[in-house]
This record gives sequence, structure tokens and C-alpha cells, in this order.
Amino acid sequence: MSEQIKVVLTEDELPKQWYNLAADFAHPMPPPVDISGKPIGPEALARIFPMNLIEQEVSTERWIDIPDEIMGYLKIWRPTPLYRARRLEKALGTPAKIYYKNEGVSPAGSHKPNTAVAQAWYNKQFGIKKLTTETGAGQWGSALAFACSLVGGMECKVFMVRISFDQKPFRKMMMRTWGGDCVASPSMETEVGRRILAEDPNTPGSLGIAISEAIEECLRRDDTRYTLGSVLNHVMLHQTVIGQEAQNQMKKIGDYPDVVIGCAGGGSNFAGIAFPFINDRMHGADIRIIATEPQACPTLTRAEYRYDAGDVAMMTPLLPMHSLGHTFVAPPLHAGGLRYHGMAPMVSHAMNEGHIEASSIGQTECYEAAVLFARTEGFIPAPETSHAIAQTIREAKRATEEGKEKTILMNWSGHGLMDLKGYEAYLDGHLQDYPLPDELLQKSQVCMEGLPRP
Ligand SMILES: *Cc1c(COP(=O)(O)O)cnc(C)c1O
Repeated sequence: MSEQIKVVLTEDELPKQWYNLAADFAHPMPPPVDISGKPIGPEALARIFPMNLIEQEVSTERWIDIPDEIMGYLKIWRPTPLYRARRLEKALGTPAKIYYKNEGVSPAGSHKPNTAVAQAWYNKQFGIKKLTTETGAGQWGSALAFACSLVGGMECKVFMVRISFDQKPFRKMMMRTWGGDCVASPSMETEVGRRILAEDPNTPGSLGIAISEAIEECLRRDDTRYTLGSVLNHVMLHQTVIGQEAQNQMKKIGDYPDVVIGCAGGGSNFAGIAFPFINDRMHGADIRIIATEPQACPTLTRAEYRYDAGDVAMMTPLLPMHSLGHTFVAPPLHAGGLRYHGMAPMVSHAMNEGHIEASSIGQTECYEAAVLFARTEGFIPAPETSHAIAQTIREAKRATEEGKEKTILMNWSGHGLMDLKGYEAYLDGHLQDYPLPDELLQKSQVCMEGLPRP
């Protein structure tokens, strides 16, 4: 018998509840506030989110049942396989064991459909007919377009950050195929978009701008709500199926991680794998949990913990998070999904409470790691995912130096088959690193002066 490569679960083993880390923090998270610092109640969110999701957003219940219909959607691609990366281990000559959870097997190619199908379903239950959203690399837009077609009877309007819109034309085609409508942001369709285009017709756009446009579009019709693919508490919650499955799979293979690693943009795939293991850690497990972000967008590693808006036009409530400032426009790095200016309040809080660590890595090291991964394990990772791989390789090399057996678990957040332009740039030798200069960091945080502090 050759050695075991993957651990698969049956459909019966799909987790039946989401895990809510908010129930287990020693200190509760600061609430969202308005510009005067006053905590905002659920009603204030009701115009942009349906009440059933707002209830999840503010919930401190530890376990929340996954409705049957949502389980039915998740079963299309879940449980996802856990792989032992034996060929990567061999190439690295490491004593470390490397496992990765393959979230790239979903129809849209990433972890994002885990929350997209839940959000589309709850909105439909609430009588909503149209969803708006923004998308960076196009992963979230395609996940939501897929989810809207799956639940049926739901229009989907996506504002896609201009630079990605140009770099990733096939993402737009995926959205159209699933019946979604995708435009480049900033667009001429909203007031915010028109204003920003008037100031700078050549702007590459940003997630912050696209969010403002999607919210403006949402406010136009009563039967429309807005969705976010990351950052918010209920999104973190929906992703915890990843870590729960991984716990079960590690148990089945008779192993347990010393290190858990995920890449972090808004924080959702990281939260998905990490939060169930943070729960283990709170109960005594000896485990390090690492969020890895781009050097060009170093939210957890270098940005202050502040109250900040989720978008450029400050239409969202102020959230307590590590933030580069809502006016931050990241350099044009290829990991579009990691360019957001803020980090999920729950992930930020987990960091402040000492449950997790963070690292940042430049994109050339990430692509080098991605290419080694593709040439050993076969699957071509998303540029975002490559950050988790690069951190995994760092940990594996450390294990070699220390001569230690170590078990590493990584979340493989998605495939890169729609992101081959970045690979072309890397393989042609055109990629550079953009460590964020200190002056720029200082400058981009100025927009938070005068806002209340957590
Ligand atoms: C969107 C995306 C990310 C980053 O978003 P998070 O909310 O931080 O998970 C990472 N990997 C892939 C493949 C993505 O599509």
C-alpha cells in the first residue's frame, strides 16, 4: 500500500453547527459605533443587512445550527478534503508534516461560497430580491453570483475593483454565467463612483470605493440588501466549518497540528480554519496560530487597532479593527483578495487577546512558494493562498534547522486558475515586492484622526 495522501469525510460528517468565537473571548469585543462613538444597535444595520443575519452578527451564542437547506447547498462541495503534502515535504527535505485543507474544490474555486450560500439563503428567507456587493480579485463576486443562482430568484450586482476587472476578465464571465451583473469600480453608475472618477480617471480602484458603490446601489431599492464576503462576524462564523472538518480529519489520521496557518485579507478563511483551533487552545492545546498577510498591505503586523469605517465614503458603521485607514489604496499587488485596508474585528480581537500571531511576506517569496507547490502537489494556488504556503515553507524550514518533527496545518483557500496573469508576471521576472513605506503607512492612517477609539 502506498502512503495515505488525503483524508475525506462523508456528507454525514459535515459540521451541523457554526462555532462562534465571540462566546469565548475573555474580554468582549468593542461594539460597532457611529461617528460620535455611540454604540449602534441592530436597527441601524437593518437597511443594509437582513435582520436574521444581523442577529448572527451580534450573537454571543457559542454554537449556531446550520439550517438544513444550507447544509444541502454546502454538500455540493463539502466536506472538503484534507491533504498531506508529502511531495512538498520531500522537496523541502523537512522533518515537518504538512497538511492542507483544500477549499479550492468549491464551484467558485475558494472558501467564499461557504458564506455566500448562507447569506443568499438568509436574505431570501427575509424576502430580499436583489443583493449588491463589491469584489476585489473577483472571488467573492463569483461566489455570490453562484449562490444567488443556487437559491434562485435573487438578482446579483457586483462592483469589481478596476485593476482586477482588467487583470481578471474571466472572473466577470463566471459571474455572468451564473446570472450576475458585474461592473468595474469606480463606475459611472453611482454618485461615489462618478465623484472619484472625476478626481482621478485613472484610479485602480479599491475595495473601500467598491463597497461605497455597492451600499449606494443597495439603498436605491427596498428589496435590496448588501453583502460582504469577509470582515463581519457572521462571515467568520460561516467559515468555521473549515476548521471543524479539519479537526475531525486530523483526528482520523491520528495527528494534531503544532502550527495552524492561513492567509489573511479581511480575515475570513483564516478565521475559518483558526477559530475552532483557538477554542482548543483555550482548553489547553499547545498550538501556534499564524495569520499571514502581504508586506504591501500589512494590517495585522503594522496597522493600529482603531475604530475605522469599512469603506471610503464612510457609509458603514465604525468597526474596531487593525486598519491602514479607509482611504488606503494598496499598491497593485497580484493578491487582490488581500488588499483590504482593515482586518476583521474578530481576528483583530483574537490578535489583541494573544490567541494568534501574524506575519507579512513579500509577493516574490509567495510566488516562489506557489510555483514550488504547483510543481510538487499539482494544484495551482490563488495568489492569496500563496501567502499561507510561503509561511508554511518558512515553518517547515525552521523545523529542518531545529531538527524537530512538527505538524503544520495550512488552509489552502483557493485555486489560481483565474489568476494566471500573476504567474506570468512572476515567471517572466517582472514581479517586485512593495513593502509599504513608513511615510505611506503614516499618511494613510491620517483619515482616522478624530474618530473615536476602542
Ligand atoms: C478572498 C480570498 C482570500 C482573502 O480573504 P479572507 O477573507 O482574508 O479569507 C484568500 N484566499 C482566497 C482564495 C480568496 O478568494
